Amino acid sequence: MMKRLGCLLLALALAGSLSGCGSSGPAEGQTFAMDTVMNFSAYGETGEDAITAARERIYQLEAELSRTREDSEVSRLNQAGGEMTVVGDDVWKLLTSAKTYSAATGDAFDITVAPVVSAWGFTTDTYQVPSQAELDTLLRLVDDSRIQLEQRSDGCYAALGQGQSIDLGGIAKGYASDCVAEIFAQYGVESGMISLGGNVYVSGAKPDGSAWRVGVQDPQDSSAAVGILDLTDAYAVTSGGYQRYFEQDGKRYHHIIDPATGYPAESGLLQVTVVAGADAAREDDGNPAGTGTMCDAFSTALFVMGEEKALDFWRSGAYEFDLILVTDDGRVLVTDGLADRFTPMDGSEYSYETVS
Ligand code: AMP
Ligand code: MG
Repeated sequence: MMKRLGCLLLALALAGSLSGCGSSGPAEGQTFAMDTVMNFSAYGETGEDAITAARERIYQLEAELSRTREDSEVSRLNQAGGEMTVVGDDVWKLLTSAKTYSAATGDAFDITVAPVVSAWGFTTDTYQVPSQAELDTLLRLVDDSRIQLEQRSDGCYAALGQGQSIDLGGIAKGYASDCVAEIFAQYGVESGMISLGGNVYVSGAKPDGSAWRVGVQDPQDSSAAVGILDLTDAYAVTSGGYQRYFEQDGKRYHHIIDPATGYPAESGLLQVTVVAGADAAREDDGNPAGTGTMCDAFSTALFVMGEEKALDFWRSGAYEFDLILVTDDGRVLVTDGLADRFTPMDGSEYSYETVS
């Protein structure tokens, strides 16, 4: 269980102590969904109702997007044997965005990696190291350019390639944060924070006008942080191999798969945090889902790509985001857009570098 708790859960611990003199605290809620602990916090009269609506929306998303639930939309698509199938708005947006970010990251992100994720046992928690022969066979199925999407007059349709299946675990929580952001806006919550297992969204600033303080977990110590982010109206999403793994013969195998090898990515990174302003993602960039979805796709992809390719991608400027990378040789790399919003942890054993 502990292994699966997302990062950045420190967020709410820090947020908890914020109510000023005489002001009332935020409405708060916690739930377990999408295989992770989720925390909600919302100020104002509508806070309580907004959190109730957010929770219901997340349960609905889980029912649509889970591939371990036989009756989910994703399971129906996975079982359709390559036939065109009607899909709802959420799945449509996720498929569209997933394909966009797969192409943008040179296939480091690919939702058709599903059969490989399953072969390692991450779908059922019955872990094993697959044989090379099995991986070679399954890797032939990994190619999301074979997913077909079609908008027809009676709705949206999708078909996977023969034998393919999809796993939205790398973007579903980010999309859930986009959906909660929408609910907060509908309910007029101008100040709030959610943390969905390593996927943080902050709405506005704190009621006193100061930024939300979000802890970035130390990938090597779940009770510590590598630093604190000061955020307003933003998303911050963290991926790391420590979030889910098993050990066999003294070796650790984690859940983020390199689609090029079929093995857990060994890129020299322990953790990737992607930070972006709330409106960074644009539909005409091929992402109808939202900024949380973009950050979630990138956190997974850049973890696979490693330091050099991740920074090249950031430098390309094709998308608006910033990064905090933690390397396996003890460095914390912070891109310069975050320079005045990130505070390293006092007494930390990491060495900190600003990257431009
Ligand atoms: P995240 O925690 O967002 O980095 O997502 C990790 C989850 O995404 C895994 O548990 C898998 O379900 C799925 N996944 C693993 N590797 C990839 C990949 N290369 N591309 C897309 N999804 C992946
Ligand atoms: Mg992700």
